[in-house]
Amino acid sequence: MSVSENDCIFCKIARGEMDAEMVHEEDEVLAFKDIRGLAPVHVLVMPRQHLASLEEITQLPEPVARRLFEVSSEVAEQLGVRESGYAVRVNNGPDAGQGVFHLHLHVLGGKHLEMP
Ligand code: AMP
Ligand code: ZN
Repeated sequence: MSVSENDCIFCKIARGEMDAEMVHEEDEVLAFKDIRGLAPVHVLVMPRQHLASLEEITQLPEPVARRLFEVSSEVAEQLGVRESGYAVRVNNGPDAGQGVFHLHLHVLGGKHLEMP
């Protein structure tokens, strides 16, 4: 395990070493509630594999990359916002305010969402 994976809080969640409110779990992809809850539905969908950011997406097997989007849609359905609509967002780098350097998708819904 590399140093970054060892210290990464989302890797700790993936390894079961840190609690999270799980919404969906499968072999390669996890979904759990964001602790900040910026919308009535605010879930993070991530690969178990540690990628620091979108710049490393080529390291992720294509079926897993696809699963990130499929699980986002499934979570929206599960939490009742697929009809009303939702946003899927990746914060990447300083101007986007990326705070956790383990690639994840925010699934936001349950209210009207503006583009920044
Ligand atoms: P960003 O890197 O900008 O996409 O933001 C990281 C997101 O992770 C923030 O919205 C945090 O609220 C969320 N977050 C940080 N730690 C945890 C945790 N232990 N469980 C759930 N969400 C978290
Ligand atoms: Zn990680």
